Amino acid sequence: MRKNKVCKIFSVVMILVSALVCPISSNAYSFLKTADGSADISGLKDSYIVFQSWNGFTQETRWAIDYASRQWNNRTGYTKLYHSATQHSEENKYPVQDGRNLITKVSNIVNTTGNVTLMRTYYYYDLYGTKYQIYESDIVINNSVPWRNNGSANGYDVQNVMTHEFGHMLGLGHSEFTEATMYESSSMGEIKKRDLHQDDLNGFNALY
Ligand SMILES: [Zn+2]
Repeated sequence: MRKNKVCKIFSVVMILVSALVCPISSNAYSFLKTADGSADISGLKDSYIVFQSWNGFTQETRWAIDYASRQWNNRTGYTKLYHSATQHSEENKYPVQDGRNLITKVSNIVNTTGNVTLMRTYYYYDLYGTKYQIYESDIVINNSVPWRNNGSANGYDVQNVMTHEFGHMLGLGHSEFTEATMYESSSMGEIKKRDLHQDDLNGFNALY
């Protein structure tokens, strides 16, 4: 009994000590999960992913998508996101698993939580050896909210939110850091997600 008591006190002291030594975890990133939430997704199956944009996007929106993907390529040093010169013509329907990685717009994205969903990334994964990896991914843009390409305060910045969605395409979940690109929410006029935070890079480096 006495020994147990000593052990308990000791363990409490140990927790206090470890809390002092490492006050805050330096990483706040997470990975995407399998549908049942039981396992992490371990990034892309292939070394890169080629995506196609809808042919109805304006040139400015195509550039915003392009810059968003290049931010990941340039900052990580790994070219994992290729913007195809081929465009597709599918809009206003949710993408399906069809061997292509499509970026398109839909008239609305229904969210039962009451929050507005600006964009949504769909990912299709399978078990390869011991790892769940993404073999296909699509991104939809909610056309019922105002979009801008210049960070103006009366709309959501396409490049800002798209940089976040590409993080999902690569296998990252949400970060707890409000300054990170992978933080879960965005506001009108926000452009800080265009530039990756160190936590986003740490998450990428943990995957690849
Ligand atoms: Zn997200």
